[in-house]
Amino acid sequence: MSVAKQLIIDNLGFSYGAVPVVQDVSFRVAAGDMLGIIGPNGSGKTTLLKLLSRLLKPQQGRVLIDGQDTSLWSYRALARTMAVVPQETQVQFDFTVEEIVEMGRSPYLSRFQAMSKHDRDIVTWAMQATNVLPLARRSVLELSGGERQRVIVARALAQQPEVLLLDEPTASLDINHEVEIFELLRILTVNQGLISIAVLHDLNLAAEYCDHLLLLSEGKVMAAGLAEEVLSAENLSEVYGIDVIVYENHLTGRPQVQALAPSRNG
Ligand code: ADP
Repeated sequence: MSVAKQLIIDNLGFSYGAVPVVQDVSFRVAAGDMLGIIGPNGSGKTTLLKLLSRLLKPQQGRVLIDGQDTSLWSYRALARTMAVVPQETQVQFDFTVEEIVEMGRSPYLSRFQAMSKHDRDIVTWAMQATNVLPLARRSVLELSGGERQRVIVARALAQQPEVLLLDEPTASLDINHEVEIFELLRILTVNQGLISIAVLHDLNLAAEYCDHLLLLSEGKVMAAGLAEEVLSAENLSEVYGIDVIVYENHLTGRPQVQALAPSRNG
């Protein structure tokens, strides 16, 4: 029997020392879906993402991809299945765009093995899909933040992942590049049937681009489900400790969140 493509988080738990920061977290994400992880600073979003990518080892619970427990996989096998797009990174070295994207093939090559035609075709495809092919020979040091982040998405695609983990991928970008990157991620998630999971602190960005949301509060799941359900004024007021209004954006049909300053709140 074939297992439907999905990622299942089963009762994850993690503490730094005696302090629990992720507690009894369970959810599932299907292929073609983008899940947003939201919550205030310190609620455990980054820690949860690190548990998924195995940068941290869960002290409780499991991460299953297509029914398989990822803790049993080699790091190489994991890198063929899961790719991470970090916050816009300051690339220190003078690599070309093509060289950066080629790094995405390393989980498929042994130490001194040269890339095959198949590997090169995938690198070219990844650059095409992210619209960085015209920049292939340019140094990443010369690019804008938005272009550089598209290169990092291209490197992730070259890994041919099933799962894309995104850690505030547009945190330091201008609004035009933010939209450009998220439009690209939305298209790739649907067209490639990716399981995409994004940590976001911007609730309106989460509302716009994520089908489903997981709202964390002090390491626990406060709400999970469709964005429209999770982003209720009650949930947000309770978790963020401030009055908010949530209304439908008439242009996009998506929920829009606005915090109310206490002084304007009667
Ligand atoms: P978020 O991403 O939602 O801001 P984090 O996952 O970064 O939250 O942090 C969750 C909690 O874990 C916070 O209270 C934070 O101070 C704590 N924490 C994060 N990293 C460490 C660490 N390396 N050692 C100890 N505590 C940490």
